[in-house]
Amino acid sequence: PPPDGDVVNPAAEPPLAGQDRPSSARVYDYLLGGKDNFAADRSAADKIEETFPAIRIGAQENRRFLLRGVRYLAAEAGIRQFLDIGTGIPTSPNVHEVAQSTTPDARIVYVDNDPVVLVHARALMVSGPKGNVGYLDADIRDPEAIVGSDLVREILDFGEPIALILSAVLHFIPDEERPEGIVKTFVGALPPGSFVLASHVTPEHEPRLRWASVGYRDDGVRTRARTAAEFERLVFSGNGLELVPPGIVLVSQWRRDPEDPPAPTPAEVSAYGGLGRLP
Ligand code: SAH
Repeated sequence: PPPDGDVVNPAAEPPLAGQDRPSSARVYDYLLGGKDNFAADRSAADKIEETFPAIRIGAQENRRFLLRGVRYLAAEAGIRQFLDIGTGIPTSPNVHEVAQSTTPDARIVYVDNDPVVLVHARALMVSGPKGNVGYLDADIRDPEAIVGSDLVREILDFGEPIALILSAVLHFIPDEERPEGIVKTFVGALPPGSFVLASHVTPEHEPRLRWASVGYRDDGVRTRARTAAEFERLVFSGNGLELVPPGIVLVSQWRRDPEDPPAPTPAEVSAYGGLGRLP
């Protein structure tokens, strides 16, 4: 019989430091139905779910938003390079698979600071015959190190438009860690014609989310839900980005596909998304 230890997926072995504490990547993986998570992550997710039962719906809607955004960027906006910060544990399909399905030579650099995401990086590195895919183990709070890294500079050409992806990651940066400065540094490195695709948890439709955030925080993961206005300023207007229609909306409302299932309620979704273009 399987030991009742924490490692659900043998691929996650050998044991990694920090298994006894939840990580945002593994909590999100669990909420999406993945197997790369440990007991501490599952109990943190269950705790959030007690307060905010729709958390799985929100996670799924965020993931759908991300993939619709990437498809739009590759297929309609002609983007061939992606810098995805806060990638998460691989889950099918991944960003490079969606981008390369319309643009086979699309190049992608994934960045995350979670050790389990690093372990699975090799799964992410499988690219099409032409497009180069790389993984960088780095912290979003050190944007200079990311945009200046050899790996990023080898794979991405900063003379051509790049899509920066900040999907469900900025709510892990509390105000005292100066998220504006972080985003500004990333956007400042992008050439004209680049895009920023971002999503963010909000307490506006579901005040109980504030308490879920506190639960997270008790376990050592800090979060900061933000209003639409705060998110808009932090990522878009504060950096001179022009919003692509429909602007900042619930992730469930952003260019929803006719074949998507009926949209959940705003309270269930509780995350905003948007796409901005750098003139
Ligand atoms: N972008 C994916 C995954 C979101 S889950 C999606 O939208 O589907 C949030 C991810 O952000 C996790 O993988 C977590 O490890 C990562 N993350 C959180 N804080 C981070 C930090 N300081 N630096 C880099 N990545 C971070």
